Amino acid sequence: MSRRCVVAVNAHPDDEAILMGGTLARLSAEGHRVVLVTATDGDAGPSCAEYAVGGLGARRLLELRASALALGAAEVIDLGYGDSGMGPESLRPCGGRARLHTVDVAEAATRVGAIFHEQQADVVIGCDEAGGYGHRDHVQVHRIVRRAVHDLPHVRLFEATVPREPILRAVRIGHRMHLLGDFDPDEWAGAFTPSASITHRVDVRDHIHAKRAAMAAHQSQATSAGGRSRSLALTLSVPTPLLRHAVGREFFVEPRRTTSPPAPADAFNDIVHSGTVSSPQKGQHE
Ligand SMILES: [Zn+2]
Repeated sequence: MSRRCVVAVNAHPDDEAILMGGTLARLSAEGHRVVLVTATDGDAGPSCAEYAVGGLGARRLLELRASALALGAAEVIDLGYGDSGMGPESLRPCGGRARLHTVDVAEAATRVGAIFHEQQADVVIGCDEAGGYGHRDHVQVHRIVRRAVHDLPHVRLFEATVPREPILRAVRIGHRMHLLGDFDPDEWAGAFTPSASITHRVDVRDHIHAKRAAMAAHQSQATSAGGRSRSLALTLSVPTPLLRHAVGREFFVEPRRTTSPPAPADAFNDIVHSGTVSSPQKGQHE
């Protein structure tokens, strides 16, 4: 088996752990070189005041390094853009840095493409078209990565996501039970990816400890102003056997796939065990 290089590009520290951490841990455990690229330091993310001392961004980059260690990643690269955040306050200038959602996609893609070239990337992982739940920085990373791989036909591109329908069902139930405050579930009607469009489901149950450790490294994101619990903290409170069940599979879209066979159970085999671009075998069902 030849050693491949996998470069994962994300908008913020913690994105590498939540949707793709198990896959990255698995790839590094199988001997592949994993490189994490973060577009921003996540300094507009919500957090308790105690974590903002000395700058939230600096703190979050340290957390990213701890997460990288848990996942077995070889290198962390920060592109240095400003976090665009979720609200209007994030439109203000950001210490002389351009906010990610305002940067020129072609220019950023040139930088990211140079990293792919330098690292000799075989596989690139980016964000799905919806930007996950719709954060503007995730959408921007989606655009930048798509553009960056455009002239690299040998690179296999995967976009991390989750199936939209079960997530929507869960948020609608949460809404009916008044668990989500004033959150409107319809805001997520176009979030993530329809199940039918998902091309790869990766079994990461054997790497759940690494995934949990990576998520736990992002301590500043487990609480926010006022100490309100966030989804990361809730996930981490789940016992490991249950966590294996809840987040033991990760989901990807391969947009440049030329055929459309049914998604195989363990599709990353064809990334990690083949030296060339290949499609999963027909007939492999989950
Ligand atoms: Zn993010």
